Amino acid sequence: MADRYLSLTGTAPGRFLTRRLGLPQPVRLRRWSAEQPLLQGELLHLTAGKSDLDLAPVLARSGPRPGGEGPHSSDEKPVAVVLDATGVRDIDTLAEVHAALHPVVRSVAESGRVVVLGAPLDPADHHQAAVQQALEGFVRSLGKEIGRGRTVNLVRLLKAEAAESTLRFLLSPRSAYVSGQVIEVGGRGGSGDGRGSAGPEDPEKPLAGRTALVTGAARGIGEAVAATLARDGALVVCLDVPSAGGDLAAVAERLGGVALPLDITADDAGGRIADALPGGRLDVLVHNAGITRDRRLVNMPAERWSSVLDVNLASVLRTTDALLSAGTLRAGGRVVATASIAGIAGNAGQTNYAASKAGVVGLVRSLAPRALSEHGVTVNAVAPGFIETKMTAAVPLFIREAGRRMNSLAQGGLPVDVAETTAWFAHPGSGAVNGQVVRVCGQSLLGA
Ligand code: NAD
Repeated sequence: MADRYLSLTGTAPGRFLTRRLGLPQPVRLRRWSAEQPLLQGELLHLTAGKSDLDLAPVLARSGPRPGGEGPHSSDEKPVAVVLDATGVRDIDTLAEVHAALHPVVRSVAESGRVVVLGAPLDPADHHQAAVQQALEGFVRSLGKEIGRGRTVNLVRLLKAEAAESTLRFLLSPRSAYVSGQVIEVGGRGGSGDGRGSAGPEDPEKPLAGRTALVTGAARGIGEAVAATLARDGALVVCLDVPSAGGDLAAVAERLGGVALPLDITADDAGGRIADALPGGRLDVLVHNAGITRDRRLVNMPAERWSSVLDVNLASVLRTTDALLSAGTLRAGGRVVATASIAGIAGNAGQTNYAASKAGVVGLVRSLAPRALSEHGVTVNAVAPGFIETKMTAAVPLFIREAGRRMNSLAQGGLPVDVAETTAWFAHPGSGAVNGQVVRVCGQSLLGA
């Protein structure tokens, strides 16, 4: 279902009219394309407090052109601003955050990026913890007011190198619909994995030589995830219910992958997946298949409850356990599950769905440290907001329009936005990104 309002605000008369009426002003987001894979323009590197990070070499490889450190001097609008606030330890140094960004924030280019770097909260220093936590409120508020397709995110990190894949993602068009997020790098089980956080041999094909399985790949977000992982060089095994076999076969063929018609709720799904994998080994497991069976609890039969819990959560638990314990998911592997902002905020009529998606968050938080230390596998989740798919096209008009606009970017996301976030988690350089639930929701007001 096309977003006609977004098309309208893309024209001069439409912009004029909607501005006069005080209506939302979405801009068409700049997303990844083979012709323009990077943000074009200058990156401004600012610091608040005294930082020990060796950031310059990492930023030099991040995409936008480094334009020097310190106050902005050139007339060019920066396309990205990175504020290193890891050294903010007290109220005085927190004021340097304001001093650094206040003069430049207006000049950030349309669809530009602001990334604030913070330090983990120090349990032995409540002043440091207070001002580092303050950065969260700051970033989330700036995300809500900055407008014009610009995003603002906070990365908590210890070492710049471990965060390279994350900074490359956030400072690129791939993260167009990710805003207001707090991402911890190097927490939850340390930064090691079987192959470390080293970058891939071929940066254009970071997943070359790796096998990825995507559930629910016949259409929607799953199809986009499979396509994006294939773009990044993975051999994709596309799984969906047998009744979607025709579409599934077409997707797999287009991507040079393998189709696996299988109901993921089957008791033996883990074993059947392992049997279908070329070489019997798996590097990236994406749990994307999901269903809704909405009803208020008072009207919800047990079958509606159990079918949603079975597809969205029980099968995720079962297949993850089976593939991890059999060693099918090998060291350096990645599990990416799919939560939802409904699982974070709750939603009337979706007690079953929200329970299942909140369960995914619990699974990620608990399993991530153990999976990394015992198997060398990271476990993370995407939590999509309003994404333009057949699922959301079926939502009644007014609710659909509210879902689209009630976020900082005033528009719905595209399946590819979830896919790009999944590809960042799956990246060989993302070994230090573990136990994270990242919302791909344009900073939705729900579950904020
Ligand atoms: P969709 O309905 O378009 O696609 C889901 C796919 O999963 C379908 O191809 C379906 O056949 C498959 N599937 C369902 N049950 C299955 C089973 N038992 N075994 C194997 N495959 C099965 O949905 P979508 O919008 O692309 O959503 C994908 C995921 O993202 C879901 O987990 C959904 O809950 C989540 N999500 C979507 C949105 C959104 O706005 N679209 C928002 C939040 C979360």
